[in-house]
Amino acid sequence: MEGRRCVYCGSEELFIKSDSLELHEPFLGVRQVAIEALTCRTCGFEEYLPSNDQTIERALSDLKKASMVHLLNDLNSSGLTNAYMERALGLPARTLARWKNEASLMPSAAGHALMRLIWTFPWLLQVAEAGFDEQKAQILLLKAAGKEEEGRCEPLVL
Ligand SMILES: [Zn+2]
Repeated sequence: MEGRRCVYCGSEELFIKSDSLELHEPFLGVRQVAIEALTCRTCGFEEYLPSNDQTIERALSDLKKASMVHLLNDLNSSGLTNAYMERALGLPARTLARWKNEASLMPSAAGHALMRLIWTFPWLLQVAEAGFDEQKAQILLLKAAGKEEEGRCEPLVL
């Protein structure tokens, strides 16, 4: 590491140490990302290299995409079609398919939050389908609470 000095003690005895960082993503668990630290042989001070930022950002982006694909696959296999969810939520047609299949398309933070909520409480789709009618929403909530252990896809019966 020529020309570089330890920012802590001024030593030029620096080397690159490989390290790893844990990234947590809801529904996917923990992923390890390899990162590098400029480490001082003299005092042991570690300085993370700016190139790590890009690595971490890419890994976070990949994780978010994988999380969305996981959530949508799971919802689809429970019987909820993309067309139904898009209609209930008032999303443009093919929005969910694009979130799932277009590698370059990253859903917004709001999109991620929405699908996490739908995955956690699928009956919210029925609330949306019922036009967010407060009374119907209360009934759906009570029904959902009574069926906590049952399947997640119920037809709308009010
Ligand atoms: Zn040092």
